[in-house]
Amino acid sequence: MEPFEYNVNASRVIFGSGSVNQLPLEITKVNCSAPLILLTPRQSTQSDKFKTILASGSIQLAGVFPNATMHTPTHITEQAVQTLKDTSADCVVSVGGGSAIGLGKAVSIRTGVPHLTIPTTYSGSEMTPILGETHEGTKTTRSDKNILPATVIYDVDLTMTLPPSTCVVSGVNAIAHAMEALYAKNTNPIISLLACDGVKALAESLPRIVSEPSSRPARERALYGAWLCGTCLGSTSMALHHKLCHTLGGSFGLKHAETHTIVLPHALSYNAPAIPELMAKLATLFPDSQGDALKGLDSLLSELNAPRALKDLGMEEENIDNATNIAMTNRYANPRDLERESIRELIRRAWSGEAPRVEGL
Ligand code: NAD
Repeated sequence: MEPFEYNVNASRVIFGSGSVNQLPLEITKVNCSAPLILLTPRQSTQSDKFKTILASGSIQLAGVFPNATMHTPTHITEQAVQTLKDTSADCVVSVGGGSAIGLGKAVSIRTGVPHLTIPTTYSGSEMTPILGETHEGTKTTRSDKNILPATVIYDVDLTMTLPPSTCVVSGVNAIAHAMEALYAKNTNPIISLLACDGVKALAESLPRIVSEPSSRPARERALYGAWLCGTCLGSTSMALHHKLCHTLGGSFGLKHAETHTIVLPHALSYNAPAIPELMAKLATLFPDSQGDALKGLDSLLSELNAPRALKDLGMEEENIDNATNIAMTNRYANPRDLERESIRELIRRAWSGEAPRVEGL
């Protein structure tokens, strides 16, 4: 075996239908009694539900901040910190996707209050010590073990309202975490196990969610897969795919999960010639691969009617060169060296919605 290191990111995880009712107990376990709930505007109607759940455990809601925003703008974080102070809250509870969780991380790392989270998308942010923030249009990312939420409650019941189209892009975002973890320079056998099981769970459950949106078992399996994939993201360094999506999302304001979904087949195709053994392993995880991971991923995306073109997200064609320049200036470990013309072609195809180029080394 190759030597390896494995660092455990220690969060407490509670998984299961109805587990949201354990929130009052979990708040007392982190020695707190006055939570501030963080939500995105679309989820603001949830606040009454949480008031009731907390009251059932004799915890009084200190306040609700319903303005979490994608890419964690710092001016929103400052408002949330002010609300924390104004309401004398002693912890934050983020409920929602990566936007709410990002805000929870940003408030917690600034103030030191514990962060409990209830993820309702498959972004995986809850499992990472990473925080991406935007200030005056520039996105920066930092990693600190204190950014990791203290407690994560995965309750499928709160994900039942997530529209299938959002499940699709969020689920493929999670698959991307696992794929890049498989070939990360600091991967290890434990992470590989989690990555494979995570991809399998999502590749099986996402089509079931699309065909039967009310299927609780399918949504629960997707949530489980998302947990595993998020753990992969939090434990390894990401490569071409995540760096490209970071560039595209941060520089051109493209939607996060949609961008990941569109870029993934292109990034995997680019790296495929450098990782033949992993491609064979990945092929076993997709139901319709016929021994070819790229075909398996493509079939899955077609079955899910996933978005395919960055131009449909609002990216302008003239930004292809700009994106290539940014992608080429940020150097990082990747299984295959970054070749300018191939990277430009990758971005161009992802922009237009054409099939990925089958790459040879
Ligand atoms: P999101 O949190 O913005 O959620 C997408 C939409 O789904 C929102 O409008 C939200 O209100 C809605 N939604 C969430 N749960 C719902 C539910 N149960 N029912 C109905 N609607 C629901 O999007 P996301 O893709 O989860 O997260 C993206 C953000 O997370 C980005 O800012 C990205 O940078 C960040 N992120 C960070 C990490 C990390 O490790 N730091 C990892 C992944 C994503």
